[in-house]
Amino acid sequence: MKQKIVVLLLCTCIFTGCGKQNDSFEPVMILSEEPEQVSPNIIEETPVSQEVASEPELPTPETVSESGVNPEPATETEEPDNTPVSPSADSVPEEESLPESEEEMNSERVTYQDGFYYEPLSDNVKARITGLSYPSDCPVPYDDLRYISVLYCDFNNTVQTGEIICNQSIAQDIVEIFYELYQASYPIEKIRLIDEYNADDDLSCQDNNTSSFCYRTVAGSKKLSKHAQGLAIDINPFYNPYITYPNGVPTIKLQDTAVYADRSADFIAKIDHNDLAYKLFTAHGFTWGGDWNSVKDYQHFQK
Ligand SMILES: [Zn+2]
Repeated sequence: MKQKIVVLLLCTCIFTGCGKQNDSFEPVMILSEEPEQVSPNIIEETPVSQEVASEPELPTPETVSESGVNPEPATETEEPDNTPVSPSADSVPEEESLPESEEEMNSERVTYQDGFYYEPLSDNVKARITGLSYPSDCPVPYDDLRYISVLYCDFNNTVQTGEIICNQSIAQDIVEIFYELYQASYPIEKIRLIDEYNADDDLSCQDNNTSSFCYRTVAGSKKLSKHAQGLAIDINPFYNPYITYPNGVPTIKLQDTAVYADRSADFIAKIDHNDLAYKLFTAHGFTWGGDWNSVKDYQHFQK
């Protein structure tokens, strides 16, 4: 019986005390296993990821150093400018060099006010006028001309954008004058390049279009017009006709405008000595065709 009792006691010890000991050990084993399973994985992963991350960092400085020596990889350093930080130092001179070319184009634009600027003729503008207002054998250099963009109020008092090509020597005058006209809501029906009328002065006048440069002679003569150098501009020509007096007989260049030859009448856009355009142009040193004696060119200002 004593042996059976001993066996029972041993069994109880196993199922109780040992059981507790096992319970107490199991969590230790689990804890010790979990970190062993996880930590090595993390440790193994992190060095790998660090190595992977460090690998691209090494090549980029190499490419940067190469690009610093060779001009060809310059475009490669432009692309990384958006992503990595390290090439920024080398990209600085290249960022400067790229805008420089753009600034060269923009630096030649002179902006007087928002919406009022002038600049040398772009290739696009040259293409628009060559063979029309600018003949293929035109002796006036492109560089003597300026493309001007202005805002103006049309006959409906709606703001429009106008295009003018004139001589570079009066470009500043033109933007200043047209800015004042715009501020005063001076009515101008249209301001388009005469090339949109096939460089036909009659068609441009018929449409009451305001324009400046057109390599042509004075109407009815072989003498070059001031328009040929872009030193003259016609304002609202339909309402301010060109009148000659052959043999003392008044002759209207464009017959449809004859009704506006009566300068005592009151109508829109009439230019006279009280007109703002007259005051502005003459203040800038222009002469007005309405003051001429041999002919009357009420639309015309020249310098
Ligand atoms: Zn004219």
